Amino acid sequence: MAAVIMDGKATAAAVRAEVAQDVQALREKGIVPGLAVIIVGDDPASRIYVNNKRKACAQTGIYSEEFSLPADTSQDELLALVASLNGRSDINGILCQLPLPAPLQAKPVIAAISPMKDVDAFHSSNVGQIMLGDYSFLPCTPAGVMELLHRYHIPVEGRRCVVVGRSNIVGKPMAMLLLHENGTVTICHSRTKDLAAICREADILVAAVGKPKFITADMVKPGAVVIDVGMDRDEDGNLCGDVDTQAVAAVASAITPVPGGVGPMTRAILMRNTLTAAKMQFK
Ligand code: NAP
Repeated sequence: MAAVIMDGKATAAAVRAEVAQDVQALREKGIVPGLAVIIVGDDPASRIYVNNKRKACAQTGIYSEEFSLPADTSQDELLALVASLNGRSDINGILCQLPLPAPLQAKPVIAAISPMKDVDAFHSSNVGQIMLGDYSFLPCTPAGVMELLHRYHIPVEGRRCVVVGRSNIVGKPMAMLLLHENGTVTICHSRTKDLAAICREADILVAAVGKPKFITADMVKPGAVVIDVGMDRDEDGNLCGDVDTQAVAAVASAITPVPGGVGPMTRAILMRNTLTAAKMQFK
């Protein structure tokens, strides 16, 4: 049986519609949720991500303001911008598009964003709260994956979950969210031995590696759910994921496509986080 293709585009539209409804209710009370997006330099991929985020704001009624800074912006200038946005009551969420061009450091920027406005949930205080299972924001990509699992009625409890990748923005929080829902979770990385054998144990396999078509059909248990977080380029320069989708779809029970899977979900959750931030700030 062919795998169910989990439609991130349609699911994200449903999430955005819910957010839009809540935003409208806030607007009727005179509150307009606002998101500031900072982009430094002219990385084409970052530019596409930022444009998509602006579009998502427009679709949900969220006010958005973009700060497009030249690549030679200094660390101090960037931190001064974050400080000024922290102080603005019309800006409820602040996002700095990563990666930053060298020699700028992301860490101090993330640390400078007020945790109340940290809609990416990268600040150490939000990361700590996620570890404790007591959070206001969840990081957009892992939360988007969980939302897809929920809306496709895929249970996590008691199932073997394997996350390939241990980055702070995807792999680690992804594993934590699966754990919160009582999955039995294994995290794999570049030093993992017998990766294929571990992947084959997964009922739910999440690939967040950053390598095109890295997960092949022989690494997937028949009937597994396969979530492809990757945003990579194949040998012809076309967008693809970390999973060899066509071959794996013949083995899996459900799979997310790239594009149209996790990516749109990430942006929808960013909108929801901005709404949450506005509600928190206006109580
Ligand atoms: P990252 O920071 O580069 O992390 C990649 C992870 O993969 C690392 O933990 C690395 O292990 C592991 N890895 C690399 N080679 C491996 C191998 N041969 N075997 C097993 N593990 C291996 O990447 P990221 O930021 O997490 O992003 C991962 C992918 O998701 C990228 O394609 C990115 O573009 C995409 N992404 C998509 C979205 C979205 O909205 N769809 C959002 C964010 C990221 P080590 O730790 O040992 O080095």
